[in-house]
Amino acid sequence: MSSSLELSTDPFTISDTSSPQRPSLNNARSQLEKIGPGHQFFKWTTDLHKDFMTWWSTTEWYLNNEEKGRYAAVINWDSTTRTSDHWQHFYQAANSRTGYPCIICQHCSASIEHPKTKNTGTKALRNHIGSAKCRKSSFTSSRSYKQTQLFQTAVAQV
Ligand SMILES: [Zn+2]
Repeated sequence: MSSSLELSTDPFTISDTSSPQRPSLNNARSQLEKIGPGHQFFKWTTDLHKDFMTWWSTTEWYLNNEEKGRYAAVINWDSTTRTSDHWQHFYQAANSRTGYPCIICQHCSASIEHPKTKNTGTKALRNHIGSAKCRKSSFTSSRSYKQTQLFQTAVAQV
């Protein structure tokens, strides 16, 4: 009986008003994954959108961009209207020091300027995916996949 009484003690202590409503910047940064050349970029993901924005809205690039007013670039990180298939080969990210938006190739980790910074469309994405540099280091290209298959078959026959 005494234990049930103890449980019913003041249930309002949980709503402590001194606890921060917004995630702290350091907390947000620690949640984000670093990717790309030299691990210099924070990766954007749907799950970590809030943490990403908490950090990104304090960066040099973001603040400079805001000052441009109506000429500012609009980066819709969580846009669901991207129709180009080329997006599926890239992560969205931003430079961890400056906040400069970019995209990182999922095959070779190359960094490319985010198409939305200058509204350049997806031509750069397409060009990169088709480039020899990317194909060479790609583990998922059909050619290297076939070679792996052939190798495995050869090993199995020995
Ligand atoms: Zn690539």
